[in-house]
Amino acid sequence: MKTAAHSTLAMTCPRCRQGDMFPTGSFSFKEPFTMNDHCPVCNQNLAPEPGFYFGAMFLSYILTGWFCLAFVALFHWVIGWNIVSSFALLLGVTGILFVWFFRISRSIWIHLNVKFDSTHS
Ligand SMILES: [Zn+2]
Repeated sequence: MKTAAHSTLAMTCPRCRQGDMFPTGSFSFKEPFTMNDHCPVCNQNLAPEPGFYFGAMFLSYILTGWFCLAFVALFHWVIGWNIVSSFALLLGVTGILFVWFFRISRSIWIHLNVKFDSTHS
């Protein structure tokens, strides 16, 4: 059985921690913003109410913001790249991680709001 942290990172259903929240892989770039309406294993509603993921938008903003600051700080001050190169690499990396940030924010959000239920595992 997965822990809450593992389930969040694996983007599985918060209730049974088995069914996938998303039908495709984060790095497959196929249908990046398509999400399962219900858990394929326990049928948990993955969009409990309209605007449920509004809060995930703020999480995404905070995560992305800190990631960008830490990334440029690392490459500029620790590794010693100039600021233009650091930002150029950041653009490439965030381009690749964009879908993952969107999904992990939703995963964290639903894991905060839906309780684990061991009867479904
Ligand atoms: Zn489930």
